[in-house]
Amino acid sequence: MATIAGVTVDTGHWIGGERVGSGEAFTDVSPIDERPLAEIARGGAREAEAAVAAAAKAFPAWSRTTREERARLLHAVADGVDKRLEELARVETHDNGALIRSHRRGVMPRVAHNFRFFADRLLDLGHDDLDTRGHTNHVSWDPAGVCALITPWNAPLMLATWKVAPALAAGDTVVLKPAEWTPLTASLLADIAAEAGLPDGVLNVVQGYGAEVGGPLTAHPDVRRISFTGSVPTARAIAASAAPNLTPLSLELGGKSPLLVFADADLDLAADLAVEQYDNAGQVCLAATRLLVESPVADAFTERFLAKAARLRQGDPRNEATDLGPQIHRRHLERVDGFVRRARENGARALLGGGPNDDLGGLYYRPTLLTGAAPGAEILTEEVFGPVLTLQTFDTEDQAVEMANDTRFGLAATLATGDPGRAARVSARLVAGTVWVNCFFVRDLRAPFGGSRQSGVGREGGDWSFDFYCDLKNTVTAPWEK
Ligand code: NAD
Repeated sequence: MATIAGVTVDTGHWIGGERVGSGEAFTDVSPIDERPLAEIARGGAREAEAAVAAAAKAFPAWSRTTREERARLLHAVADGVDKRLEELARVETHDNGALIRSHRRGVMPRVAHNFRFFADRLLDLGHDDLDTRGHTNHVSWDPAGVCALITPWNAPLMLATWKVAPALAAGDTVVLKPAEWTPLTASLLADIAAEAGLPDGVLNVVQGYGAEVGGPLTAHPDVRRISFTGSVPTARAIAASAAPNLTPLSLELGGKSPLLVFADADLDLAADLAVEQYDNAGQVCLAATRLLVESPVADAFTERFLAKAARLRQGDPRNEATDLGPQIHRRHLERVDGFVRRARENGARALLGGGPNDDLGGLYYRPTLLTGAAPGAEILTEEVFGPVLTLQTFDTEDQAVEMANDTRFGLAATLATGDPGRAARVSARLVAGTVWVNCFFVRDLRAPFGGSRQSGVGREGGDWSFDFYCDLKNTVTAPWEK
């Protein structure tokens, strides 16, 4: 047990409805001040095996529950999240350093919404029967089995429940492996689910390092689905683990997304959209980190951007007034800084920031804007995952599209333009799972979410989540004799 911001969090695994320890532990550190928060059970092959066994044991009964019963339980989990919203917000802020303000108003309400949305969607799920020469084709959405869900640290509970909720709704049982840098809210979710009445073994949580516990979990032959959100190198390792069993995968990965600013755009709006990319201290997969601006308005845009960015308040994320918190971990801060240092050594100039925030110390990195990077430079091609944007200019619409698509990723793209015709033309040519026109981060959970190219495999959201978490079956019945 650990007490964080007045909230008691169990530091063990949650397997088959029981708290289980491990011989070994690892230290979870807060990015706010790099102080230890808790000693967390360090799982391995044994815990992965036990959790899959518990989930497999719970599957037959859970998969036979009615849709109404599952929807009722998911609503009860959502109510439990709402009841503990403030506690979840406080613990998450201590654990991953994201703003308490966002956790209270946006993230934790969305966690509850993830459960309610998929519960309600489940009740609407279906197809009309098809008729083939008097034969009826009845399509059913059958539960698939045990799902291994592996999640990152940048939005821990939100991303975990984005997978847990549809998997449970589908009638699957789950083993959730949260990131080792942010293990705490997954443990609280186990408590909330148990209090809501979820049967033992339906949701299991194993803690530990990726390769140690995630490796055996994703290689397990009894796992029927793997859903992973994280980085491309880890996705490759998981795909290799899954390959011998041909376990179906859903991969939500990184990006290097562009923000295109055309000369006909509302430049204030464009600058606001650009500054928004520093949200979560830049640790957002969807962040449009490459600012591509039409040459004639580049100076006017930059001036507005710098004026707005200068108003950002960096500091303790527990303070409601803070706009920009710390990086997640010292190793991550050093990685981010390495990208910036190498870019500057190779000729890029910092128009803003360019290094750690020495006034604050710790893990705070200044919001940074770099210009003058050579085409093909690392800073223009690799995902930095920190508060680091680059500025490039273009002269024609064709060039803008070419630069936007000049990446091995394809997660999202944002464009600012005052011309609806241009918006339609450019959106159609962009390679991206999501395109935002004159807006950013607006999401409807009914819509598909995912990435093209190396930003992912498959789509989740709405019925696409059920496509993934279910075994779809078509039952063809000949006409019954009269
Ligand atoms: P990561 O790939 O390092 O880790 C993600 C998870 O995978 C962690 O739980 C980790 O323990 C686990 N893991 C690591 N090695 C493993 C292995 N061999 N087998 C099984 N599991 C293993 O990613 P991260 O640093 O936690 O997260 C940042 C990345 O996530 C960025 O690339 C970001 O763009 C991406 N991301 C994508 C989305 C999206 O929806 N597309 C959302 C958020 C973050």
